[in-house]
Amino acid sequence: VKEISDVLHQLGIKEVNPAYSTGLVWGGHEGRTSRTINSPADGNTIATVHMATAEDYDKVVQQAEEAFKVWRKVPAPKRGEIVRQIGEKLRQHKEALGKLVSYEMGKIYQEGLGEVQEMIDICDFAVGLSRQLHGYTMHSERPQHRMYEQYHPLGIVGVISAFNFPVAVWSWNAMLAAVCGDVVIWKPSEKSPLAGIACQHIIREVLAENELPEGIFNLIIGDAEIGSLMSHDKRVPLVSATGSTRMGKKVGEAVGARLGKSLLELGGNNAIILTESADMEMALRAIVFGAVGTCGQRCTSTRRLIIHENIFEQVKERLLKVYPNLPIGHPLDSTTLVGPLIDKDAVNAFTSALEKVQQEGGTLLTGGDILSGEGYETGTYVKPAIVEVENHYETVQEETFAPILYLIKYSGDVENAIELQNGVRQGLSSAIFSTNLLETEAFLGHWGSDCGIANVNIGTSGAEIGGAFGGEKDTGGGRESGSDAWRIYMRRQTNTINYSRELPLAQGIKFDI
Ligand code: NAD
Repeated sequence: VKEISDVLHQLGIKEVNPAYSTGLVWGGHEGRTSRTINSPADGNTIATVHMATAEDYDKVVQQAEEAFKVWRKVPAPKRGEIVRQIGEKLRQHKEALGKLVSYEMGKIYQEGLGEVQEMIDICDFAVGLSRQLHGYTMHSERPQHRMYEQYHPLGIVGVISAFNFPVAVWSWNAMLAAVCGDVVIWKPSEKSPLAGIACQHIIREVLAENELPEGIFNLIIGDAEIGSLMSHDKRVPLVSATGSTRMGKKVGEAVGARLGKSLLELGGNNAIILTESADMEMALRAIVFGAVGTCGQRCTSTRRLIIHENIFEQVKERLLKVYPNLPIGHPLDSTTLVGPLIDKDAVNAFTSALEKVQQEGGTLLTGGDILSGEGYETGTYVKPAIVEVENHYETVQEETFAPILYLIKYSGDVENAIELQNGVRQGLSSAIFSTNLLETEAFLGHWGSDCGIANVNIGTSGAEIGGAFGGEKDTGGGRESGSDAWRIYMRRQTNTINYSRELPLAQGIKFDI
């Protein structure tokens, strides 16, 4: 507790307010509901947050609108310089922030540090990008004419994020949006808002040091209602939402109805294919990290293992040796590999999925228990489960956000495995372990994996920021982070310039007056 209070102190969390816009914090709890944030690790209360009201939201939007008028005029490389300074501050606070992420959300400290590193990496990426927001030039069909395209800032970008990556997903969006000249309003998950508040303190310092206006980066603490206000709000041209497919459908519908832009990063149902030629040692490490890392609470967690029938028993045996010995415990303990689930609702979802899948014909091979006794008093620690199933079971078709690994057998060639892998509604991450070029190329071909991410001899989980991140089908189709994902944060304009003294019309149309 002492260690955590030091961490909170370092990160500037002395009191917790409902809504922030940089430099503008208003307190007072009248008319606001509060929410206690308890650590899933030991049940201790970390802080109480007051949820923003619709009026608070309105103030934040107005503040953001004002800031946009200034920020869009700052040259992009100068905006990059601000992001560089944010990256530097994140480096200074990496350990403290990593610890808070770990304690508030439950992922192990190494993964908490990894999440902060991801933020630092995207800052570096965005700094470079700030000098590369380029469009094409084209040859005009008309003499002495020139055509080119340019990208302009959009305005306010709303970011709605999920509990499991409480800060990284925001930074992927916010740092790109910032160099693009947008201002951001971030609504973190109501289950893990404190790491967001800590980030806001870091950002506020940087903006103050640079005498920049309030409201370039805004944070609002609220639940689905605030997210819904944002989705319906015409003043927010782009809403980037990360979370369940259920939430994404609502956000997509609301933003679509007002013809706004949405960037949706939703649930996955990720599979690893293991062919007969797989390097088993490599595959095993990737499978176990993918299935039990973050206690199965990554959008890219490995949920299904599609194994060739000739190696099925061998793989099963190897996994059944590893699973019972997994160190499950406090996420800040350096020997722990599996921390707790976020809350008891998540535990209930885990146990009811296991019950249902067994009713459908699945065989539970290991795990599935809720741990109790010393160190496990919260009731949020579970034993990761492995179940032998068929792909078409309703439970297998769904994403259960918990450490359940489904083993599925395939026979014949790799195309049968690919068909099973694609045979779900989601399309986020996929992987194949194979040393056979014909198999791996089939997997990567246009008749291969239908996911946004397709890896060879790497698991489904743990993407690098340099690539565009996201998935197809029920995963929502959005792409964020690296590559050219920045384009969605800007509006595109085509310009034609005539430097002759004639006015020829396009397509040679004659129109003499
Ligand atoms: P969730 O859908 O319950 O909540 C996510 C966010 O949406 C929260 O901030 C919540 O307040 C908000 N929200 C909920 N209903 C809303 C509504 N009607 N309108 C506007 N906002 C609303 O998800 P969760 O439990 O926090 O996170 C787990 C889910 O997120 C999993 O499905 C996981 O796969 C997904 N996820 C996806 C990615 C990705 O990049 N594809 C990354 C992380 C998590």
